[in-house]
Amino acid sequence: MTCEDVRLAIHEAQDDAPAGTLPEPVRVHIASCAECRELASDLAAIGAALRAMPRAPLPAETLDAVWGRTIRATPSGFAHGLGFWRLAAAASLAFAVVSTTLFFVFAPVTPPGPTAVELAHAEAQAELVLGYTARALAATRVAAEDRVLAEKVAPAVRGVPMPSPSRSPR
Ligand SMILES: [Zn+2]
Repeated sequence: MTCEDVRLAIHEAQDDAPAGTLPEPVRVHIASCAECRELASDLAAIGAALRAMPRAPLPAETLDAVWGRTIRATPSGFAHGLGFWRLAAAASLAFAVVSTTLFFVFAPVTPPGPTAVELAHAEAQAELVLGYTARALAATRVAAEDRVLAEKVAPAVRGVPMPSPSRSPR
C-alpha cells in the first residue's frame, strides 16, 4: 500500500460515526510509517473531539436569518407554509454540510404539505443539524489551532527538536 492509499483509508475511517476500524494492511503500514501514523493520530484526536461535542440548537433568529437570505418571497397561497419554507431554507443550507443527517428531516412530503407535528419535528431536526454544524466548525478550528500550537509551533520556537510521533495507533 502506498502512503496515499493509506491516508485515503484513514480519512474514510474517520468519516464514519463512530470512527471505523482501520483495515489490517493500513495498520501494518502505520506501524512503520511515522508520517501516516501522525496523520491517523491527528485525525483521530479531532474526530473524537467533534463526536464528543454537545448538540445544542441554534437561536431562532439564526434560522430566521438563513430563511431571509435564501427565500425572498413567499409564494401566494402558501401562507400556512411559512414555517415550511423557513425550514426548507435552513435545511438546504445544512444539507450541503451534513447531508446524511438531513435524510431524516425531509422524508418525502406529500401534498398539501406536512402536518404541524411533522413540521415541529423537522424544525427540531434542522436546528439540531445547524447547531451541530456551527459547533463542529468552531471546534475543528480550535482543536486544530491548539494542536498545532502545542505540538508543532511551541517546540519549534523553544528550539526543541521535533519528536517523532510516539502515540500508539488505535
Ligand atoms: Zn505512509
